Amino acid sequence: MSTVKAAVLDKVDGKFTIKEFELPSLDGKHVLVRVSTTTTCGTDVHIWHGELPAPFPIILGHESIGHVDVAPEGMKDFTGKPLREGDRVVWNFVEPCGRCYVCTIEGLPSACPNRKVYGITVGCGVYPYLNGCYSEAIAVGINTPIFKIENDLDDSLLSPISCALSTIIKAIDILNPAKLDKALVIGVGPLGLYSCAYLSERGVAKIVAVDMVDERLRLAEEFGADATINLNHHKDLESVRKALQDAVGHEGATLAIEVAGNPKAVDMGVELLARAGRMAVVGSVVQGTCQFNPLFFVRKQATLRGSLGYEARHMLEGIRFVEETVDKYPFKKLVGKSYRLPELEQALTDMKEKRIIKGAVRIAS
Ligand SMILES: [Zn+2]
Ligand SMILES: [Zn+2]
Repeated sequence: MSTVKAAVLDKVDGKFTIKEFELPSLDGKHVLVRVSTTTTCGTDVHIWHGELPAPFPIILGHESIGHVDVAPEGMKDFTGKPLREGDRVVWNFVEPCGRCYVCTIEGLPSACPNRKVYGITVGCGVYPYLNGCYSEAIAVGINTPIFKIENDLDDSLLSPISCALSTIIKAIDILNPAKLDKALVIGVGPLGLYSCAYLSERGVAKIVAVDMVDERLRLAEEFGADATINLNHHKDLESVRKALQDAVGHEGATLAIEVAGNPKAVDMGVELLARAGRMAVVGSVVQGTCQFNPLFFVRKQATLRGSLGYEARHMLEGIRFVEETVDKYPFKKLVGKSYRLPELEQALTDMKEKRIIKGAVRIAS
């Protein structure tokens, strides 16, 4: 490989143009990875349409899988396995600084104020230029959690580990689910489907999924939901509350996860939460304002926790989870369609218009 083709976005609502990059000279602080597949994420769509800020020009894409092309001498993955040319790998989309108060004392590298987020916070005009995954190659910094993949599952099943799945594993970990918990999953996109499957594996008593699309709610059942609520069939919140109570009992949801990306979903979750309930807000990644009455919150002694990204251990758990449950849940339906790199705009449009849940952009596979 001497040059690398990548899809470059120059501005908000712009076209994705395939451009050729010279291979950067690496400084011993990066692993060059040949990208095989990058799966689409809602964040790509938000950046494309200006709902999230990004430095232009940029190579988007942060949920990916590939093979090591060049690794510094003695480089190991985060479990201590040597990394060599040809090894199949996934990597965290965040490279934390590893030195700041948040990284070290708080132990929360995903919230590092100095973090680099591939395909999101760093453009392609900044060394080492190959900073996003809609590209034939990416330069992954050596402080980024990298994990060697030793199974032969299809790329489309593994690529979402590096954003959607590990994000959900962390959020659910924070909620510390127990067998008595009755969980409410608000929003049935990729994050919602992974939530149903992972909550199911964690053994909670009930999982209720909420959305506005019947087809997605049916899919939620295949991913482990015990009951579903289509908001279009309910005229007001009291009617939704009644449906939830029919499914889980009078108190409501002891645990809730917002993965709808809509402030109204957060308001609804707070309303439907049981006393002492815990809720993770995960999907609200763009600007918005909530209306909820803090009194409900105080009276219920509820916990509301934001969660963004994930730590290295959640990624390792994501790999284990996919390997052990690949025959149990229809993960193949989650990444419904494959595209080539020049079809990126179509892939993101299909995702935005909900024709697919996720798309797999096959770059070298
Ligand atoms: Zn993402
Ligand atoms: Zn830091």
